[in-house]
Amino acid sequence: MKQNELKPCCCCGQGVMHGNQILSTRVLVTRMAANLPAIRRQHGLETMIAAALAFHMGTQEDLLKELGKEETLLVCDSCAMTTTIAELWEKAQESKP
Ligand SMILES: [Zn+2]
Repeated sequence: MKQNELKPCCCCGQGVMHGNQILSTRVLVTRMAANLPAIRRQHGLETMIAAALAFHMGTQEDLLKELGKEETLLVCDSCAMTTTIAELWEKAQESKP
């Protein structure tokens, strides 16, 4: 990652190497949501025939769908070791314009 690609830590807002940290973490996050109609259809098929057969006879629909685009989060090492992914994602959302 080149200098012009660096961003502040999405959690604390400081540079990712502040305090002489030599490690940082890049996290790719995509929020996913259950596709309930597809899950119900697959479950309905499984109640009529064996689950293993339903797996092969089903339509192979996406049971999870992406909510928005994948986001790249850059995190300093001290935040990466003490913060959950959910907290990082929430702070990244707050810092968006
Ligand atoms: Zn940080």
